[in-house]
Amino acid sequence: MWLPIFCLTNILIVIYFFRRNVKIKRNLEFEIQDLNEKINVLTDQNSKEFKNKDGLQKKISRYQGLKKIIEDINRNLSLEFIVDTLSDIAFTLITDNKGTCILYLVDKQSQSLSLFKTKKEDKKLIIKLKEGDMFDHWILKHASPLLIEDIHRDFRFDSDALKKQDSRPFSSLIGAPFISDHKFLGILRLDCPSPNFYTQDDLRFLVTICDLGAVALENGEYFQQTQDLAIHDELTSLYTKGYFLERLKEECKRSIRQNRSLALFMLDIDYFKNYNDKFGHTAGDIVLKTLSESIASGLKDLSPITSRFGGEEFCVILSGMDKKKAISAAERLRQKIEKREIILRRQETGVTVSIGVAVFPDDAKDEDELILRADRAMYEAKQKGRNRVCGI
Ligand code: GH3
Ligand code: MG
Ligand code: MG
Repeated sequence: MWLPIFCLTNILIVIYFFRRNVKIKRNLEFEIQDLNEKINVLTDQNSKEFKNKDGLQKKISRYQGLKKIIEDINRNLSLEFIVDTLSDIAFTLITDNKGTCILYLVDKQSQSLSLFKTKKEDKKLIIKLKEGDMFDHWILKHASPLLIEDIHRDFRFDSDALKKQDSRPFSSLIGAPFISDHKFLGILRLDCPSPNFYTQDDLRFLVTICDLGAVALENGEYFQQTQDLAIHDELTSLYTKGYFLERLKEECKRSIRQNRSLALFMLDIDYFKNYNDKFGHTAGDIVLKTLSESIASGLKDLSPITSRFGGEEFCVILSGMDKKKAISAAERLRQKIEKREIILRRQETGVTVSIGVAVFPDDAKDEDELILRADRAMYEAKQKGRNRVCGI
């Protein structure tokens, strides 16, 4: 009687434990599944954070580079240095020196863009459009940044028209304006042959470079203008004596290095005191201006460096000139000035000049002696009756 009851109890116990175990196993399986899902989510998060960390590090190094450069350009006022530094930072930090970087400045007189600096991956590449292409003009017109992922797919621009003007291969670009105090100063632009090369982040960084660089650029332009004023004579716009003497020293050194001669003209207006007395000092000033134009146009093919050396005395350096060529160039100039009419109060007037010519190193061992020799030659021309050229 007890045996079947015992057996049944045992069977029930075994069934109970079996079912319990199955339940525990199922729960465990659920938990494992749950944990696996969590692991997947965490792995995913982890890889995103890794990417973010990389991106963040890139941003940190970009902005650290930018900070240093901005400090540098605010310390240095040279326009050339500022322009070089701004294009350099954009080219290295945004594209790692891939593609092309172009910096344009706005020409004050024509109010058009003018190419100022380029950085190129392909050093042989030639940029034909010195006043910018349709994309640069778009930035100029809208005064806002531009990102183009693929110029062939952007409905705003006709890329075929561009091909006719410029055969340079590029598909994507970013560009931003330099604007300071509502003044449009220029454009910094990057382009690359592959499409989709630049990101919104790259454009944001370029805009930051341009915003910070605009102030430095404006300062640089003011500094350059001040320097230009300091080295140019107010009346004739020719070089001042001080700057001219520096240039003469450099040119003498260069002519020694290149084993070429150099000619110096010393030119003085004949009887200019009489002219002033007859027509007045203002008329005399017009003559000085006209004469400086005649010198520039008369010698323009010879790349002259010209100075108003004193009141009505002018000096000209002509590099790579021997004595014979220099004398005949001076004679042509003298004749041109003699023929030039200056109309004053409906009256035809004119002046003549005496020119002394000396050549380095044939006539002098250094720039001081060269000036002395040219001056003596000019004095000789005066002595011999004026309106003539004399050499040493
Ligand atoms: P020459 O050289 O032939 O011997 O006679 P010159 O009458 O030209 O004599 P000199 O060179 O000594 O005279 C210089 C004159 O140039 C004196 C002055 O009236 C005139 N002059 C000098 N600077 C200026 C200037 O900026 N404007 C005007 N209008 N005249 C000037
Ligand atoms: Mg004189
Ligand atoms: Mg004179």
